[in-house]
Amino acid sequence: MTWPRLVINRNHLIQNAEETCRRCAAVGVSVSGVTKGMSALPDMAQVMVEGGCATLADSRLQNLAKLKQKGFTVPLHLMRLPMPSEVADVVQWADVSFVSSCEILELLNTAAADAKKRHGVLVMFELGDLREGILPQELEQITDTLARCHWLDAAGVGTNFGCFGSTIPTVEKLTQLAELGEEMERRLGVTLPFYSGGATSTLPLLNELPRRINNLRIGEALLLGTDTNHDETIQWLHQDVVTLEAEVIEVRRKPSVPSGPLACSAFGEKPVFEDRGERLRAIVAVGRQDLRSPHVMPLDDGVLPLGASSDHLLLDVENMTPGPKIGQILRFRMGYGDMLALFTSPYVAKVVV
Ligand SMILES: *Cc1c(COP(=O)(O)O)cnc(C)c1O
Repeated sequence: MTWPRLVINRNHLIQNAEETCRRCAAVGVSVSGVTKGMSALPDMAQVMVEGGCATLADSRLQNLAKLKQKGFTVPLHLMRLPMPSEVADVVQWADVSFVSSCEILELLNTAAADAKKRHGVLVMFELGDLREGILPQELEQITDTLARCHWLDAAGVGTNFGCFGSTIPTVEKLTQLAELGEEMERRLGVTLPFYSGGATSTLPLLNELPRRINNLRIGEALLLGTDTNHDETIQWLHQDVVTLEAEVIEVRRKPSVPSGPLACSAFGEKPVFEDRGERLRAIVAVGRQDLRSPHVMPLDDGVLPLGASSDHLLLDVENMTPGPKIGQILRFRMGYGDMLALFTSPYVAKVVV
């Protein structure tokens, strides 16, 4: 075995997926399992599908290509707007991509025609979060362009909350999205399969959703059992699907304040040190190359993260009884940002148990 590593609890991931999909299905909503938080690890994506996710969604085309090459047959959605330089690959690997401009529609249409392969597009609307999306008044123009793109299928409409603007979903905004979708349907003379009303942060509204909202793109709830936008633990989900394990490489009593003249750390920061006298400290072998520490949350009692450099995570272990030994494995929970980084790091092993 090698450390550091992420240990994934397969049972709890499948239970999170099943419970989320069950609650959504009860109100006519399908779940797109969002795989970007775990770098689309195929074993975990497979569990999401087994748990009931009808589609898988990711922001990175490489992740979707990996899933397609592994033989996944559920529809794959590219949730980040395609780069013009990647449209040929988008058409090859994604079944649907999220769009917000006529330029990209034209490029995707040409790429789809070249590949002789139809491609679905889901139009993102800007409803206040100020990340991607067309303004409601641009609907006519984008719909007219879409109608001329014969190799593209209108897959639906969607919006974001809590990505840039820290907005939370409301029934009013989702009603507006539903109306925009219906307007698009009238203009195109088709029925749109996806009315995608957000992500984990829309789950609290599940029982009040406008009738037409029929899809959510869920990552954080499945992987962490939390809802960061509402700063909540989701009581009906497991929080221990993913655990970080790291190995102790030094244990020593040291002062709590550095000595000598101080300037900036290697990361350009000026940390503040509280003098707590001499404390027992441990170093575990994981660092900023792998996470955004010290935001990781120790699972062992008496462990307090102090900070990290590229390859070292420093811990106060004064209150750990018994104190740790060199070679001991310490365990941590993490937030979304740390999870994203840890799964991306080639220095961190991933094991599904
Ligand atoms: C990452 C992402 C999601 C998933 O959000 P969670 O909060 O993890 O459920 C949904 N939609 C888009 C467009 C995303 O980029």
